[in-house]
Amino acid sequence: MFKASCHCGGIVLNADEAPETITSCNCSICHRIGALWGYYLDEQVETQQTVAIQDYRWGDKTITFHTCSGCGCTTHYTAVREDGKTKIGLNTRMVSREDTKDIRVRYFDGADTWGFLKEES
Ligand SMILES: [Zn+2]
Repeated sequence: MFKASCHCGGIVLNADEAPETITSCNCSICHRIGALWGYYLDEQVETQQTVAIQDYRWGDKTITFHTCSGCGCTTHYTAVREDGKTKIGLNTRMVSREDTKDIRVRYFDGADTWGFLKEES
C-alpha cells in the first residue's frame, strides 16, 4: 500500500504500489507547488476526503490541481489523456519519507523543452 495524505488528513489517497519513478517538473505551477509526482490511472487510486477539495485549472484547462481546503496541501492532479482515460499525478510529497526515499526522481523540463533533463544516479 502506498498511502498519501495531506497535512491535516482531510484528503487521503491510496494506491496498491509505489510508482517506479517520481517526476519533478519545473513548469510554472509545479515549480511553485514543489510537488514530486507519481503517475497512475484514476482506477488505481482510491480517494477519501473529509474536507472540501479546492480545484484549480490553468492554461488550456486540461489539468486540474486538487488542494485541501483545510491545510492548503496540493495532493494530486487529474488530467484526461488522449485515449479518454483519466490520469492522476499523485503528489508523493504527501507520502511518508520512509516510503519515498528510495524512488528514483526524474527531472521534467515542463518550462521549456517538454522533455526530461537529467537522471539522478
Ligand atoms: Zn488537509
